[in-house]
Formats: sequence, C-alpha cells, structure tokens
Amino acid sequence: MAYQVPLFIGGNMVQSRTHEWLEVNNPATQEIIARLPCATPEEVAAAVAAASRAFAEWREVPVPERARLMLRYQALLKEHHDDIARLLSEDTGKTFEDARGDVWRGIEVVEQAANIASLSMGETQENVARGVDCYSLTQPLGVCVGITPFNFPAMIPLWMFPLAIACGNTFVLKPSEQDPLASMRLAELFKQAGAPDGLLQVVHGGKEVVDQLLVHPEVCAISFVGSVAAGQHIYQTGTAYLKRVQAFAGAKNHMVVLPDANKQQVINNLVGSSVGAAGQRCMAISVAVLVGEARAWIPELQDAMARVRPGAWDDPDAGYGPLISQAARERVLRLIAGGKAEGADCLLDGSECTVDGYPRGNWVGPTLFSGVTPEMGLYREEIFGPVLLLMEADSLDQAISLVNANPYGNGTSIFTASGAAARKYQHEIRVGQVGINVPIPVPLPFFSFTGWRRSFYGDLHAYGKQAVRFYTETKTVTARWFEDEAVAGPNMSIHLK
Ligand code: NAD
Repeated sequence: MAYQVPLFIGGNMVQSRTHEWLEVNNPATQEIIARLPCATPEEVAAAVAAASRAFAEWREVPVPERARLMLRYQALLKEHHDDIARLLSEDTGKTFEDARGDVWRGIEVVEQAANIASLSMGETQENVARGVDCYSLTQPLGVCVGITPFNFPAMIPLWMFPLAIACGNTFVLKPSEQDPLASMRLAELFKQAGAPDGLLQVVHGGKEVVDQLLVHPEVCAISFVGSVAAGQHIYQTGTAYLKRVQAFAGAKNHMVVLPDANKQQVINNLVGSSVGAAGQRCMAISVAVLVGEARAWIPELQDAMARVRPGAWDDPDAGYGPLISQAARERVLRLIAGGKAEGADCLLDGSECTVDGYPRGNWVGPTLFSGVTPEMGLYREEIFGPVLLLMEADSLDQAISLVNANPYGNGTSIFTASGAAARKYQHEIRVGQVGINVPIPVPLPFFSFTGWRRSFYGDLHAYGKQAVRFYTETKTVTARWFEDEAVAGPNMSIHLK
C-alpha cells in the first residue's frame, strides 16, 4: 500500500478521513509513490481554526524570538538540503542538481525572514506639530493562506510561509496535489525547529479545498503561484471576499539576442534556460528574438540543443527530467504538432523522445522551432515544456515592440555587449524582471519577485520588503503628552498646532 500523505494541523501529522484520494506518481516510471487525500471541509475548517487559535499568542511573541525560529529553521533546512532534494526528485522527476537548486532558493528566503526585525520596522517623525510625534507600526494580519504550483515544491512554499509567520501571522499551505512530498518535510522540519503548534498547517486537495479557503471569513490574505486561469479565479474570488491577494501566474519569457553579443555565451545560456528543468520554470526562456545577423547562429544553437538529453533524477549526464505528468506531456506534444501544422519550421522535434530503462516516463526531447509568428498558438500559449521558439527582428526597437505586445510580463533578458542597448531595453521593456546577459533573472530575496501584466495579479510581490508589506498592516500613531494644564474650551480644529 502506497504511503498515505497526512495533513498537518495544529502541530500534528493527521490522517485524513476523506473518501477522495489522488495518486502521486513518479513521472519517470508512473510508479504510485503516495496517495494524497482531498481534505474534507471539516478538515479544512479545522486547519483554519488551528491557525486562528495560534495567532492570538504568536502575534505577541517578540520579534527577535520569531527571527530566532527562522535561524533554527534555516540551519535545519541546510542540514537536510540533500534529503529534501532527493525527496522532491522522486515526485517531480527533477535532476538531483536541479532539485538542490529548488531547495536552496527557498533556504535563501528563510535567511531573509530571519531579518524580520529590520524588515518590518516602522517609521518615526518627531514634532509633526508642537509636542506631537507620529510613528508607524507594522502588525500581522492573522491567518494567511498559500496555494502553490508543482514546479518548485520547496522554493515556492518557502517564498510564503516563513515570511508570513516571521511577520507574526499564522499560515495554511495548500501545496500542489502533483508533488506534495517536499511540503510535508518542510512542515516536519519547521516543527523540529521549535515552531509552536498551529503556526503552519498543510492541507491537500484541489479546487474545492482552495475555494473553501478563499471565502473563509478568518482568512485574511492569500498568496498564489500557478497558471493564469487559476490565478485569475483566485484573485477575483479572494478580492471579492475582501481579502488581500497576490497571484503569480503564467509566463512567456523572451531573450533578445543582439549580434554584438558573445555567441558562445548566448548559445550556452539559451539552451540551459529554455530546456533546463524540462522548460517547467516560470522564468524559463521560451522565445529567443534574434536581431539582425544573430540569425546566423541558428545552426550552432540547434547542434547544442540536440546534444542535451533528458534522463532520470540520478543520472548525472541528464540535462533535465521528465514532464510532471502524462497530461502535461500530451499537452506539450499537442502544441508541438499544432506549431508544425501552423507552418513553423521544426528544427528539432522531441516528440518521440525515449529514455533507456524508463519506457513509461513523461519524456519530451529538446524541441526547436524557427519562423514563429505572433499569431501562432505555439506563441500565444504558455507551453511549459522543453521547447524554444525562434523569432526574428531587424532592430532592437522591433524586438522591444514584439516583447511588449506579448501579454505576459514575468521575465526577459537581453544579450549584448552594448551598455546603451541594454539600458534602452531595461528602460523600455514592459516586463517586471530583466536580465542583462543573465538568462533567468530571478531576484534574490532582499529584492522581490516582480512579475508584471498577465504574469501577476495584485499589488505587492513575493518576498523582500514587498512581502513584508503584504503580510502586515501599517498602523500610524500620532501622540501628544501634555505638559501644560488644559486651557478652557473645546478644541474645534483638525489642525495639529
Ligand atoms: P496550477 O494553476 O494548475 O496549480 C497551482 C495551484 O492552484 C495548485 O495548488 C492547484 O491545486 C491550484 N488550482 C489549480 N486550478 C485551480 C482552480 N481552478 N481553482 C483553485 N485552485 C486551483 O499550476 P501548475 O500547473 O501547478 O503550475 C504551473 C504554472 O505555474 C505555470 O503556468 C507557471 O508559469 C506558473 N508559475 C508561475 C510562477 C510565477 O512566479 N509567476 C512561478 C511558478 C509557476
């Protein structure tokens, strides 16, 4: 009998009483590695109630204590870095190195959460009027919820709950139903780090569980990462119920290549950022816009891509792993077939890819299209597979117009030797995260993860100072301490004197 994933409520791992179970598969073999409960409405309510109870005490815990919890958690995560990576390789299929990166980028956010004292400080102004001071406080919201996608099962939960909790909130996490194993390990280690019961709960399931959390009267804020359709639904429903929502959604990221760039750097970075992690990164480069003579590099790019091959998580020569599910693979194959039918030129076709020893894996080989135009389905839809589209432009201005006409705005990069061209690109491009000779410009946690347009719904972004603002309320206090006796008569003025 496969491992039954528990729920984590009030500091305990509890078995669900549900009758609805999902299977968690190893994407390289289809082996069922776990059975996942869809939490019942009573269990979801119990998770929120546990978070709500814990909030009353946790909000009073001094900030340095909260920071120390994060320091202990960071040390434990580092100690167990490889175990968590191995675990998530199993249900995501990621190569071990890639899985280690997933965990590491999460650990960096926990490090940032340990700085909560300086991150959450308010402001003070003395003498805003005679004898009157004004200062601001940041206070936690209450119960916060996180809904996370399959593609970074350690990093993305760690974008959310450590900072929310460091701010004094409590948290209910609903991880992806496709790869929940890492979340359970993260929860276990959080408890081991000394987190009081009820600070973090983990519930499982799909849309029904999410929908219950979105409308729950005690939930104050919702952080979501996933597809556009789910993000729009979560943003619209959560805000309709007057909750704070930040929703990070899909992407179509372009790399603009100018002919003065270093050719070998372009090829190395383009291959890694497009097919790495099987293209299942929200910041993967999925379109390269070759400007002018950079078009001549296509044959060398094609050769370099053809040399990458997918494989199982523990194969040190594998460039990347399988897609997360058979459904994801079928969707990618359908988009590749659609691209061919629409007249794009398929220079490399990974549709028939196989991997020795893993006949049932969700493999798709590196796939390269040229001659792609903006009307093609291949270009309009997020593919989320190891597929790179090549487009062409005659000038930097034309490339900028093309990228700006795309509705997504998660990430982009430009490869060039020209500072002036890079400066122009950074200034004019309507995308929230820009790399200059950096293919995947994910900001470190002292900045924030700043997707724009259809890649983000909300106002305040993930991690960094913006997340601290998202997970707190600002209260301003205007204070006067009288030294004189009161003079007769009411004070009818709204002016402070
Ligand atoms: P998904 O939208 O299918 O699922 C994400 C989460 O939302 C899961 O926990 C799922 O259970 C829940 N969910 C799905 N449909 C829902 C619905 N209709 N109502 C309520 N909840 C729902 O996404 P995924 O396939 O797990 O992840 C891949 C997507 O995530 C890609 O589109 C990728 O671009 C995006 N992503 C974006 C970022 C970013 O920072 N912008 C980061 C990582 C992934």
